[in-house]
Amino acid sequence: MEISLQVARENKLSRITVINLDVGKMQHLNESIMQHGFDAAKQGTTAGEASLKLNWLPVKLKCNECHHIFTSADMKLSCPYCGSKDTNIVQGTELNIKSIEGE
Ligand SMILES: [Zn+2]
Repeated sequence: MEISLQVARENKLSRITVINLDVGKMQHLNESIMQHGFDAAKQGTTAGEASLKLNWLPVKLKCNECHHIFTSADMKLSCPYCGSKDTNIVQGTELNIKSIEGE
């Protein structure tokens, strides 16, 4: 919320209508909690009428053994190709504002 208001000031927006947010599934957030927090935070700001659009990013991992990159649908962190548990998260921990629409 803080960041989106800052972006709005930088872009000289008088009113924010939509905030597009990238959220990685590793964040363990759910949509209703996000919407609730957003609705509380936006009161009395230039984003008072804004809606929040969440773009959920799947968790992607890279295997350090066989170097495959794979999507983890069920939060398993082991490699489906070679079974290695030596993997790095390459996507899924994001919590970024992708874009802001306003006027
Ligand atoms: Zn592997």
